[in-house]
Amino acid sequence: MGYLRGTALLLLAVATTCGAQTKALIIDGQNNHAWQQTTPVLKKILEDSGKFKVDVATSPAKGGDMSTFHPDFSTYSLVVSNYNGEAWPAEVNAAFEKWVKQGGGLVAVHAADNAFRKWTGYQEMLAVGGWGGRQSGPGTPMARWRDGRQVMDTDEGPCGRHGARKPFAVTMRDPEHPVAKGLPPVWMHAADELYNHLCGPAQNLTILGTAFSDPENRGTGEQEPMLMSIQYGKGRVFHTTLGHDVAAMQDVGFIVTLQRGAEWAATGKVTLPVPPDFPTATEVKVRQVVP
Ligand code: ZN
Repeated sequence: MGYLRGTALLLLAVATTCGAQTKALIIDGQNNHAWQQTTPVLKKILEDSGKFKVDVATSPAKGGDMSTFHPDFSTYSLVVSNYNGEAWPAEVNAAFEKWVKQGGGLVAVHAADNAFRKWTGYQEMLAVGGWGGRQSGPGTPMARWRDGRQVMDTDEGPCGRHGARKPFAVTMRDPEHPVAKGLPPVWMHAADELYNHLCGPAQNLTILGTAFSDPENRGTGEQEPMLMSIQYGKGRVFHTTLGHDVAAMQDVGFIVTLQRGAEWAATGKVTLPVPPDFPTATEVKVRQVVP
C-alpha cells in the first residue's frame, strides 16, 4: 500500500514536472547562416530556462523535396524559426497561419526575417524583414524610433543591410512590456550584425528595443528596431534581429531576451527573472552555452 502510494505520488510528480514545461518546436534546415551550429544553442538556451521541452523540425536541404515537410504545429505552444530558405508547401503555410492566429507563439531569430517575402501571412507575423528583393515604401514602411516614439518611415528603397559585426548598445523602449520589465534601460550586446532598413507591413507592432545604426559602420543614423513584439490574431510573436552566430547567441542579453520572449510568446506572461549576470550599459556579458 505504502509502496503503491509512493509510486502514485512519484508518477504524479513526474506528470506535473512534464506538464510545467511548454512544448516548443525549432524549425531549421535551410539558412544562409550556420543553423547546424546555432539550433543546438537555441535549444539549450530554451531548455536552460526550465520552461521548455524542445523538439527540432529540419526541412529538406535546398533543392530537396519540400512536399515531405509537414511539421505538426498543433501539439506545440511555441515555434522558434531559425529558418531562411525555400518556400514550404502551401498547406503548411496555411496550417501555420491558422495555428498562430488561434494563439500559437512564434519567435523569429535573426535571418528568419529574411525568409518568405512572398508569403503575406508570414510578413504580417514578423512585421518587418530584409533582403530577398524587399522594397520599402507606403504599405511596407521601415519601423523606427524617433523623438521618443515609434514611427513608420515610408521612404522608398531596398530593405535589409548591416555593417561589420561590432558590439553595440540596445536601448529598451517599452519598459512595461512583460519581456522588457526589469531589464536595464540600456545594455551592451556582444559583436553582432546590426540590421537596418528592415521593412514590411509593420502592423500590430511594438518596438521593445532599438540600437543606433552608426553611419561610420554602413548604418543609417537611425535607432533601428532590434527586439519587437507583434500581435497576429490571438498569437504573439517575439522578433529578435540579434543572433548572427553562436558567439552573438552566447551574449547574456540575447539569451535572456530570447528566453523571456519565448515565455511571453507561448504564455502571454514572463516569470523568468533578470539574472545577476545581465549586461550593463558599459559591459558585455557572455555565457558559454554548451549543447
Ligand atoms: Zn547574419
